[in-house]
Amino acid sequence: MRYILLFVILTLSSCATSRLARQAAKDDKASQGIIRDTAIVALDTPQHEIDTVKIVIGPILIDTVVQIARKDTLTFIGVGDIMMGTNYPNEDRLPPNNAKGLMADVKHLLHDADITMGNLEGVLLNEGGTPKGCRNPEVCYVFRSPTSFAANLVEAGFDIMSLANNHAGDFGDAGRKSSMKTLDSLGIRHAGLITQPYILFEKDNVKYGFAAFAPNSGCASINDIGAAKATIAHLDSLADVVIVSFHGGAEGSKYEHVPRKHEIFVGEDRGDVYRFAHSMIDAGADIIFGHGPHVTRAIEVYKGRFIAYSLGNFSTYGGFNLSGVNGLAPIVKVYTNPEGEFYKAKITPIYQTPMSPVRIDLQGRVIKRIRQLTLEDFPEAPITIDDEGWVRYSTK
Ligand SMILES: [Zn+2]
Repeated sequence: MRYILLFVILTLSSCATSRLARQAAKDDKASQGIIRDTAIVALDTPQHEIDTVKIVIGPILIDTVVQIARKDTLTFIGVGDIMMGTNYPNEDRLPPNNAKGLMADVKHLLHDADITMGNLEGVLLNEGGTPKGCRNPEVCYVFRSPTSFAANLVEAGFDIMSLANNHAGDFGDAGRKSSMKTLDSLGIRHAGLITQPYILFEKDNVKYGFAAFAPNSGCASINDIGAAKATIAHLDSLADVVIVSFHGGAEGSKYEHVPRKHEIFVGEDRGDVYRFAHSMIDAGADIIFGHGPHVTRAIEVYKGRFIAYSLGNFSTYGGFNLSGVNGLAPIVKVYTNPEGEFYKAKITPIYQTPMSPVRIDLQGRVIKRIRQLTLEDFPEAPITIDDEGWVRYSTK
């Protein structure tokens, strides 16, 4: 295409040159009484110098066209917490058939993106490890899923997983190492533990950076904003698109709002997620997928970059409160340009009931909830959310 275009330009240029020459000859020679037609025939001969240049540079241009072929839209899916069942303290909360089918209803959606991300809210470990001690036994749960369950993440379409959360260390280093080894063996990339806080990778000629943060020990810290910004600036200098995951904020239905300050929950500083998300975008991040509160929170577009403040419970088989808003969550698909700048997004509403698979919510309840929370928490956000879940820039 480029070759053809240049051919046309050169041809036009050649014609234009001839026309100018003709005009000059006409003006000049007419005034001098010289025969004009002789000059015109000489300028239009096939041996004209510009035609020779055109043939020589053609093959070089064809090579250039092959190298620059890239998509003009990229898509990113984010979902919240995933815990497919635990074999600790006993096997009462393990789903049948190795947890196959928990995400079958939404598999086609999760596969339909360049990059699909989830948060692994637990440990992939068959047995052993040191169960985490809890400050308050009333709100203490530890999750250990058999490593064979991880095949379901591949089957469902996940490319990257966050390991920065308050359950990644439930079984100490044995658990962390087993989670990483299991995901590595299946080709699912991961980030968020201090031993691997971020990753860089390439897919379909696009370079991606991915980093994950949480307030918990063993994780890249959501509360060290200076260090987090340095990580993101480094990724931004090397990648086309930088994706950031965070696990922060207080938990439960009383904490659906983004308070724009540090949230202290069960004695822990769960971060100032508003300041964190904005700081990461200031440092070069393109998409922020937050989770942690176990309920869905507002979304925002800041400096042309998308933020989801909490994606809620996505596939949490046992040991999670799923009543009311706790059982509703979105699958968020973000469309961007090749540099990660927001075009639009689509929210697919899902719901869960205890010890059951993920289901698409035909009532669209979480769409209405996100719209309301976004209006209340981010009235300045330049976006609208329609009944089908499409998120677009406001036209007003
Ligand atoms: Zn959590």
